[in-house]
Amino acid sequence: MGNPLRDRRAAAEWAADRQVIEIAEKLSSFERLPSIVEADLAALDADKMPLGWRDSIVVGELAFGFADAQRKVPVVRCKLTATVDAVCQRCLEPFRLALETESSLLLLALDETAEGYEDHEVWEMEENTLRPQDIVEELLIMALPLSARHVDSASCKALSAVADEQEEMTKPFAALRAQMLKD
Ligand SMILES: [Zn+2]
Repeated sequence: MGNPLRDRRAAAEWAADRQVIEIAEKLSSFERLPSIVEADLAALDADKMPLGWRDSIVVGELAFGFADAQRKVPVVRCKLTATVDAVCQRCLEPFRLALETESSLLLLALDETAEGYEDHEVWEMEENTLRPQDIVEELLIMALPLSARHVDSASCKALSAVADEQEEMTKPFAALRAQMLKD
């Protein structure tokens, strides 16, 4: 049996089957994602290149169904998480970037619209069929920050350098205060 992630079927078929696809795939099994991650890591010196960046795992679930009782509007609910290697734009060091995305996509043909689904996003299908992997890749690419940075300032070299300086500056006062308290 093949991987349903890479099957190509009409949206209505995926929806009619209420297909649920559990995802646990290496980054390397995707097509566009690895090259985007690689382009970002290209800024690093060879000795800082994270080993096994292609082995990062994308996990999640795609659940197909219909948004309406008349079974006319196919929808896919997507939940994805991945932790990929990235370069912090502040300190230019590699770090592990956590990605998380959740959405409900209406599966509509090009120029097709559906009223009353303002809380949904639309996945426009240029062809009659769709391949779930394309949705996964697109959602994760959209989840990538424009400028990746360490979230935790303690791990960011650019920020911890500033913090060290500030600590140095406050130390004389701290010492003085300690002295005053003692007196
Ligand atoms: Zn940083």
